[in-house]
Amino acid sequence: MNDIAAAQKAVLAIALRLADARLTVGTYGNVSARVGDFFVITPSGADRRTLRAEDISVVDFATGKWTGPKPSAERALHLALYRTRSEVGSVIHAHAPDACTVAATQRELPALTAELAQVIGPSVRVAQHAITGTKKLERETLHAIKGRQAALLANHGAVCVGRELEDALHCLEVLERGCRVFIETEFKRAASYVGSEPARAMREHFLRACASR
Ligand SMILES: [Zn+2]
Repeated sequence: MNDIAAAQKAVLAIALRLADARLTVGTYGNVSARVGDFFVITPSGADRRTLRAEDISVVDFATGKWTGPKPSAERALHLALYRTRSEVGSVIHAHAPDACTVAATQRELPALTAELAQVIGPSVRVAQHAITGTKKLERETLHAIKGRQAALLANHGAVCVGRELEDALHCLEVLERGCRVFIETEFKRAASYVGSEPARAMREHFLRACASR
């Protein structure tokens, strides 16, 4: 993607799709794309529904300075990912509901689905908790995402990367699905089953009640 205006339009379209698919909460989360010596990123705290393409901030790689509205508070994290991963052309950070649930457990997500192993890697690590916009969050995220296409941020959300915007969005969808499967299979083990004898008694009671009608 070499044209900044086209990249701003594409970032806005992906940000709207995130909101429509409920893959993030309110104004949380951010989307960016690399364009030569710059990257374009959703602005800080903006309502996606009223955003225009020209409101997508343009950040200079070398200086970190921007044009347009103030970019997302996570711009330094996006910048760090672009600097350390030359193949990365897009970054999405989202507070996706199921990813947030798993991130709150601070447990590494195993590859429970084929697509997770294929698209993201052998697992999804959790970056240790850190305040938004801090060097610690950058450091922990870079460590957690090493050799992967996604990481969970402890008690916070998820970060996904891709060559193109569509790849990063697909990665987030695969991660969210993987988190759902993990929640369903792992945490619901806490359920208590009624047992075969009470179940048989309930069935017989029901049949007797039906017969006496
Ligand atoms: Zn966040």
